[in-house]
Amino acid sequence: MILSDAAARLIAERREAILVRAGAGHRSLVGECADRIVAHNVRMTGLGTRASKFCARGCARCCAMIFFASPAEVEVIAFHLLERPELLRVFLLNSLERERMILPHEGLYRRCQAATLCDDANLAAFYALDIRCAFNVEGACAIYPVRPLACSLYNSIVPADVCAVEPKAYETEEMRMHHGDARRWLAGHVRSFPVRDGQRLDVSRKVLVRLIDLVDSVT
Ligand code: SF4
Ligand code: SF4
Repeated sequence: MILSDAAARLIAERREAILVRAGAGHRSLVGECADRIVAHNVRMTGLGTRASKFCARGCARCCAMIFFASPAEVEVIAFHLLERPELLRVFLLNSLERERMILPHEGLYRRCQAATLCDDANLAAFYALDIRCAFNVEGACAIYPVRPLACSLYNSIVPADVCAVEPKAYETEEMRMHHGDARRWLAGHVRSFPVRDGQRLDVSRKVLVRLIDLVDSVT
């Protein structure tokens, strides 16, 4: 997949129509999920040095990893963007650039998405390319309050220059507990949100695909 300028313009133009089309019931479910995700992320952020001494604003090398997101999280992020035109514009511009960067490595990227082909070697090779998530803006996450649970759980016990070579995940008991609660709650709602084919897709492409689907639904 590669996002064209025309597709980006179409998504931006149709945002009002998409918001109108989303029924009140759906919007309130998305809002409820958003509240849960925000509350979880506030808790995770509040752990501070109990989670990691090294993860800090501006350090975002790990945002070149492939972080997956559930359908409920994707829906929350999509509507978070649709309700914020400027953020949506930045995301679409970043996505255009990211898609261009992925294009020469599409085979590797696809192997990282397929459950049967994805292994540590493929993931490490993609990480080495340092192609950051389209939500990464000047070294910070532009959707921080509603970032996926996988991102909020990711922490390091080693400095960023070590992460750049070999990513490290570290979970305390407290992080696992918060994360488990939020995951369980979201899992119960997954069926209420659209699930697309067998591809896992990383968070920014998954949101992009969902936005394109939403545009299709109003055209
Ligand atoms: S996990 Fe590593 S790269 Fe990511 S914010 Fe923490 S120290 Fe930085
Ligand atoms: S959603 Fe935010 S935290 Fe997660 S990979 Fe993208 S920029 Fe990084």
